[in-house]
Amino acid sequence: MEYIRYCPKCGGKKVYKSLDSFRANKNSLLCRKCARKEVFSKLYPNKIEKLLDDTPETYYWIGYLLADGHFYENRIKFTQNGLDKISVEKFKTYLEVSCDVKNNSKLDSFEFSIMNVDIVPKIKTKFDIRENKTYCPPDKKIFEDMDIDLLAYLFIGFVDGDGHIANLHNRPDYNLRIKVHSSWCDVLNICIERLFGLSNYVKLNNQGYADVTIGDSQILKQFKRKYFENITFEPLHRKWDVINLDYVGKYEQAKITFEKVKELYEQNYPVKDICKILNLKEGLVYKDIKKIKK
Ligand SMILES: [Zn+2]
Repeated sequence: MEYIRYCPKCGGKKVYKSLDSFRANKNSLLCRKCARKEVFSKLYPNKIEKLLDDTPETYYWIGYLLADGHFYENRIKFTQNGLDKISVEKFKTYLEVSCDVKNNSKLDSFEFSIMNVDIVPKIKTKFDIRENKTYCPPDKKIFEDMDIDLLAYLFIGFVDGDGHIANLHNRPDYNLRIKVHSSWCDVLNICIERLFGLSNYVKLNNQGYADVTIGDSQILKQFKRKYFENITFEPLHRKWDVINLDYVGKYEQAKITFEKVKELYEQNYPVKDICKILNLKEGLVYKDIKKIKK
């Protein structure tokens, strides 16, 4: 004779071999799996389900995790070292995780893991994240179809994980660079094209890397202005602060000058006057006029 009970949470069947064990277990109506989950969530409360939201901050963290997180069957691990340790604390605060951050002073790193048998697989499915994601990125369709603003925040997170933004040789110019495994080439190209309007911009190098550098200060400023204005969270200052919104690069200045020359030239101002009005050398103005005539 078997005695059967159904788990009130998942509906799973629980079979007892004898009436004695059926009675002995009457205090725990939940199946073993649900009972364990309940204990676990009481011991380590968190809001990991926030990672399934469609919000800028969630997409920022998904992008960061895509670059720098570790995904296991039911667990996500996040480690950062050096100055970026601050991100581990921020991520923990965001998910309202109660466990302690592991502090490894030898590696100068902070780390924590979060486990959830329901949510982690759902996150992996939603973003097509694989355990060997470094060499096996999500399906590119995910990035093609993603809402463009959310894609921007995912990209910002990805840069905080795996990108560099730096000044060039102590000059005020700056560029943004990402170098990842070559399997990411298509995904990167989609992001760069959708967010910056630059098509086929990613280069594959001989060492098996996909490498992309954006050096146009105007484009980077536009991106930062648009996406950093109203956010309630803080991407890494050490990276994004490098993009100085007041800086006008040489290339950008040349474009602005060209537009001004063009305007005056089309109103039939003589070259001498254009030089005087814009305070430019004659050679430069002639160069621009040559371009206008093309
Ligand atoms: Zn159950």
